[in-house]
Amino acid sequence: MNRVKPSNIDEKATAMTGHDMSNEPLIRFAFFAGVFVVIAAWEAMAPRRDRQFPRRARWPANLGIVALNTALVRLLLPTTAVAFALLGEQRGWGLLNTVDLPRWAAVILAVLALDLAIYLQHVVFHAVPVLWRLHRMHHADLDIDVTTGARFHTIEILASMVLKLAGIAALGAPAIAVLAFEILLNATSMFNHANIRLPAGFDRVLRWLVVTPDMHRVHHSIVRQETNSNFGFNLPWWDRLLGTYRAQPAAGHKAMTIGIEQFRSPGEQRLDRMLTQPFRNDAAATNRSALT
Ligand SMILES: [Zn+2]
Repeated sequence: MNRVKPSNIDEKATAMTGHDMSNEPLIRFAFFAGVFVVIAAWEAMAPRRDRQFPRRARWPANLGIVALNTALVRLLLPTTAVAFALLGEQRGWGLLNTVDLPRWAAVILAVLALDLAIYLQHVVFHAVPVLWRLHRMHHADLDIDVTTGARFHTIEILASMVLKLAGIAALGAPAIAVLAFEILLNATSMFNHANIRLPAGFDRVLRWLVVTPDMHRVHHSIVRQETNSNFGFNLPWWDRLLGTYRAQPAAGHKAMTIGIEQFRSPGEQRLDRMLTQPFRNDAAATNRSALT
């Protein structure tokens, strides 16, 4: 196979557009670290729920998989999404590069379309058994906090990156829209998984604009109907429009059980165990369902 070397498309995009792409990883890391520190401090000051586990039992593996995923995406994929979108703009790929829209309208449409696409992708990852095997590792976290927002199986990350590249090409998404979307998603994912307490009235208003922590926590409930609701990451509208919205967990935010039936032993929060979860069935869960 004649795979393009990682830097080639980036270099091509840099040369063709005059945008220097080489600083992108550093800018992203600084942004991730900044938002992470702010939310982690917020969690320490105003937590929503008591932790079931100390941070040291979960954070090394949750952050370890982020590092692993970041390295593997750079290594295995020939381009970043933004560089790919720049190339698409130059070559006139996709819908938005062929219709004559004002620039601002194309950018807004692209961000909305990308957000709808990841909502739909999330629904599909819950509905198709083989994809759920990959995605359930994200749900197997027994507490939910800022680190849960970045804890995804490596294969899920690679698969969704490939889908994203295909979507960007088909849509003809402007590079600036892709950059804005990725930065937004990164920040909102950390925010909506956060174990932070917001005043109830403020949450009610805010969740018309963005997915709030209380709204997304419902999605991490062990109760199946609650897991299969609130799929949105950024905009709460898709859940409301498409009938997957659920306002609150039945047991309440403090008493609800976080996680899934499988993989509930503390040892499953280790990085090596997390990575093999898609290929294993948890014996305890099998026994539990055999008994009922
Ligand atoms: Zn999910």
